[in-house]
Amino acid sequence: VQTVGELLKKINNANPVLFDEPMRRHTSFRIGGPADAYLRVRDEEELRRLFALILEAELPYFILGEGANILVSDRGIRGIVLDLAGLNTCRLAPESSTIIAGAGCSMSAVIEQARDWGLAGLEFAYAMPGSVGGSIYMNARCYGTSVADRLEYVDILDENAGCMRWPVRQEDFGYKHSPFQARKSVILAGAFRLTPGEGEQIDARMQSFKTDREQKGHFLFPCAGSVFKNNRDFGRPTGKIIDELGLKGTRIGDAEISNFHANIIINRGNARADEVLALIQLIEERARHSFAYTLERELLLVGDW
Ligand SMILES: Cc1cc2nc3c(=O)[nH]c(=O)nc-3n(C[C@H](O)[C@H](O)[C@H](O)COP(=O)(O)OP(=O)(O)OC[C@H]3O[C@@H](n4cnc5c(N)ncnc54)[C@H](O)[C@@H]3O)c2cc1C
Repeated sequence: VQTVGELLKKINNANPVLFDEPMRRHTSFRIGGPADAYLRVRDEEELRRLFALILEAELPYFILGEGANILVSDRGIRGIVLDLAGLNTCRLAPESSTIIAGAGCSMSAVIEQARDWGLAGLEFAYAMPGSVGGSIYMNARCYGTSVADRLEYVDILDENAGCMRWPVRQEDFGYKHSPFQARKSVILAGAFRLTPGEGEQIDARMQSFKTDREQKGHFLFPCAGSVFKNNRDFGRPTGKIIDELGLKGTRIGDAEISNFHANIIINRGNARADEVLALIQLIEERARHSFAYTLERELLLVGDW
């Protein structure tokens, strides 16, 4: 903690550094112990300076989007958490239908902006919690479309804190997979190639996706979306498999395999990360035992386990 504090004195950060900041305040699960240090970065310039210092000092760090796909341990996160919510500008590339959105923009805000500019193509991701950076990193996917399908390029800070533009080649991305998962780079912004459309029609599509999520119960309890990926080889979605295992409604403490969607674990109040993990492991063991399936986790375990 002291090293983090000393390091941060070297930069003139705009926002205060919060020490022992409870991560449950920053995750959609409302779960997570303290981060040694937490800083909401103001802009790209501040991030670049800070990232260079962190790399030089070899400090552990974690890049936080909206915390909608992570389970942070009860012991929390060692080192520094950089919250990129300040990188929230969104602009239209000149004379084109490409929107360039900062990593900290929420996906839904970008989609609303696109609608206002009469641009279509991202509606499928409307109301899916998450930032541009997190959604590119995860290559988030729903209703048959992945974020990478609309991506033209990604601006990143590479492992040496240098800026570079990463042209998107579809073959580098896959189902819930992006090349950034194997790198220590920071996503600064994503450029989405959209198509001109009529605002009202775009909005109608957005609302239908939102309504579908509401009807499926996505927003009833704190959660982090699907816990496991789907696997075509299993012939049915993972939620169906967990349902067949009879695990819907299973509860450990305040963590529960939801009754409305078996691939979603919910926090009924004060769930602990280790209770969620125990449910995850229970599902994994039962799937292996009953069907000889090895389920692949989509939810990321973060911090000091
Ligand atoms: C109710 C609900 C429904 C959901 N439905 C779906 C769905 O339909 N489809 C789907 O794919 N997901 C879904 N999710 C999961 C989540 O919405 C997505 O994975 C989303 O893209 C996560 O974005 P985030 O900003 O919250 O990322 P975070 O959870 O903050 O981070 C995820 C990972 O990305 C990394 N990361 C974040 N920002 C950056 C950056 N700028 N540079 C480098 N790395 C970065 C983090 O370090 C972490 O490893 C759902 C979640 C909830 C709560």
